Amino acid sequence: MELVGPGALMSWVDLPAGTGFGLANLPHGVFSTPGTAPRSGIAIGDSVLDLAAVTGDPVHATGSLNAFLAQGPTAWRELRARVTDWLTDEVYRARVEPHLIPRGDVTMHLPVEVADYVDFYSSRHHAENLGRILRPGSPPLLPNWRHLPVGYHGRSGTVRVSGTPVVRPHGQRAEPEGPPSAGPTRRLDIEAEVGFVVGAPSELGTPVPLGAFPEHVFGVCLVDDWSARDLQAWEYAPLGPFLGKSFLTSVSPWVVPLAALEAARVPAPPRDVPLLPYLDDGDDPWGLDLSLEVRLNGALVSCPPFAGMYWTPAQQLAHLTVNGAALRTGDLVASGTVSGPRRDQRGSLMELSWGGTEPLTLAGGTTRTFLEDGDEVTISGTAPGTDGSRISLGEVTGRVVPDPMREE
Ligand code: CA
Repeated sequence: MELVGPGALMSWVDLPAGTGFGLANLPHGVFSTPGTAPRSGIAIGDSVLDLAAVTGDPVHATGSLNAFLAQGPTAWRELRARVTDWLTDEVYRARVEPHLIPRGDVTMHLPVEVADYVDFYSSRHHAENLGRILRPGSPPLLPNWRHLPVGYHGRSGTVRVSGTPVVRPHGQRAEPEGPPSAGPTRRLDIEAEVGFVVGAPSELGTPVPLGAFPEHVFGVCLVDDWSARDLQAWEYAPLGPFLGKSFLTSVSPWVVPLAALEAARVPAPPRDVPLLPYLDDGDDPWGLDLSLEVRLNGALVSCPPFAGMYWTPAQQLAHLTVNGAALRTGDLVASGTVSGPRRDQRGSLMELSWGGTEPLTLAGGTTRTFLEDGDEVTISGTAPGTDGSRISLGEVTGRVVPDPMREE
């Protein structure tokens, strides 16, 4: 008898050609239908498998993935194997099929009750671009950047699911002359990022080494770290990002398990200083070949490549915990803006418009430096799957609405 790998598996579910939600993906999310409570599901093709109903396990009926994520990697693997069996073996079809709901009929919710939110700055191209824009004439990277993944703690309570309106934030803006003014941001921006969702917690006082990354991190989502550049520029010294970032961070609704990204693992880029032992990932790097796309009002404006990120998510986790800080179920650890070396690979408007000096031209001849009211930004992502298909990370989208306090 021939052994067949996962590439040979076929589902009895009617999967659309080219779907990014085939058996190689099986992302987890939280959904509801009209009149029903939010519960956990797994996307398959154009459907959601209602995990709460099909398993009867209350862990999937809580309205967030946290309780299941807290069970740890053995439980994650077992459920993935079971769901794969259910969706491939006809013997389960009669029992499972009634629990498939068209994805077009569901509302998606924030998948995870976010515990702590940490945002890094792990793209060398992004950090160098910002350095050149903000500190012209100085070395683009600050002296610490190649030695540690730079990051800050964000505001977990303002992480929301894709589709949440982006209310133009109000705040203090420096003026060219005289004192600062208060008003709506004039420089509303995006940051295309990838987020890593912690499932299994760690103990206070016990660092998480590089090799333990997949024992703690369940999966991956897309992140748009909306940013008000004028508020940020005035407030950030000397303690870092604050209100210019904390008004909203949007995440995609489907969390793609690390188990689905085995074929996406790639070596990390060469580093040009020796790494300290706790960050030295020479034999087991966690680079990931994820391809992002950024659309502004439907026009493709950038294709940031995640594979070139200087610091990997495993290094971010090792650094975040090297002082003994504990991980909690639901922690969201974002990569920082993903930018590649080319202009059309930049993950923020700050870089795409080079600090507002080089407007982008969109379809119909309209131009943009930063976002205007009514603008809609969508970030999507794909990765190579273990069966040779492209798996989808879904998308994170948001439309800008005016500041309700704006002066008329
Ligand atoms: Ca960011």
